[in-house]
Amino acid sequence: MVSKMIQPIGILLVPIGEIDEELLEWLRIELGKAFGKRVGTGSRMPHPDYAYHKGRNQYLSTAILMEINKKKEYKEYGKVLGIVDLDLYVPQLNFVFGEASQRIAVISLIRLRQEFYGLAPDPMLFQRRVLTEAIHELGHTYGLGHCPNSHCVMYFSNSLSDTDRKGPEFCFTCRNQIF
Ligand SMILES: [Zn+2]
Ligand SMILES: [Zn+2]
Repeated sequence: MVSKMIQPIGILLVPIGEIDEELLEWLRIELGKAFGKRVGTGSRMPHPDYAYHKGRNQYLSTAILMEINKKKEYKEYGKVLGIVDLDLYVPQLNFVFGEASQRIAVISLIRLRQEFYGLAPDPMLFQRRVLTEAIHELGHTYGLGHCPNSHCVMYFSNSLSDTDRKGPEFCFTCRNQIF
């Protein structure tokens, strides 16, 4: 008898609050291709009221990472990426596109839409940005730091123009470090 080895889930996507299902499924498939891992979708976590800062009207990304880390059901997965559609911050910065700590990361979708800046929607550009930010934060969970190459996904994005310039690909050096 031939037994089939099923690859364990290497990356788990976790929707936090309201997240578009189609986008999530698209991202799951694209991340599978990018990392060559099986990517799963976890059960939805509730809206992160615990992370809300009233004065800033934003959500503390570090608090969300800690909340994900507490979940026993996620412990068996290699990496966990939370997705929120809310504005994130850390105390030293006006906002963040995402944050990562050890095997857990989170990204926000809200600033990746043209509509956030009063522009006409551009679904393709939005998807490319989502993939870029997701791969960037997951890259940190695989031990990569920021890359000086402005066309590498691991380059630090100060603004969306950085995100759009770099795109979702690793440079040769970064690629060699994780694959
Ligand atoms: Zn980074
Ligand atoms: Zn690089």
